[in-house]
Amino acid sequence: MKNTLNIHGLVSLLLIIDAFGVALFSIGSQSTLIAVAFLLLFIGYFALVSVVYCSKCLCRNNCNHLIIGRLSMLLSKRNSGPYTKNDILFGVILPFIPLLVIPQFYLIQNILHLAIFWLFFGLACFEIYFFVCKTCNNSNCMMCKHRYGTTP
Ligand code: SF4
Ligand code: SF4
Repeated sequence: MKNTLNIHGLVSLLLIIDAFGVALFSIGSQSTLIAVAFLLLFIGYFALVSVVYCSKCLCRNNCNHLIIGRLSMLLSKRNSGPYTKNDILFGVILPFIPLLVIPQFYLIQNILHLAIFWLFFGLACFEIYFFVCKTCNNSNCMMCKHRYGTTP
């Protein structure tokens, strides 16, 4: 069970890295400066999520997404309580929009890159929704499949 969980966490992580790697390559082939800015934005986004969202996670010491829980323990103290609308809106959703939108202007120049980005990104979402979340114990998270079930 544990192995299956880690494999899906790892696969989805690699798919995300691949998707945004293609995006970065596409941006970099048109502007090195914007590629560097995008990379910083990408890293900054995960740091933000780890501090705002993961610090309230019930199982960040056993994170299904592997790296981000460890990052959270490194960057933030444990926060208690349920997620607020602001946590979700300003800590997760809104900052993700530029990460998703900016690469499209560069990926559109090459249909193959665009297709690979969306294929990898779509597969990562599929993996997370159908497998990674299924075994996650962060019952405060909206995506948790047993929100009213067990607590770790
Ligand atoms: S399981 Fe989710 S909320 Fe918890 S540490 Fe991992 S990424 Fe963050
Ligand atoms: S329920 Fe899913 S999205 Fe939410 S923290 Fe757990 S694995 Fe991540």
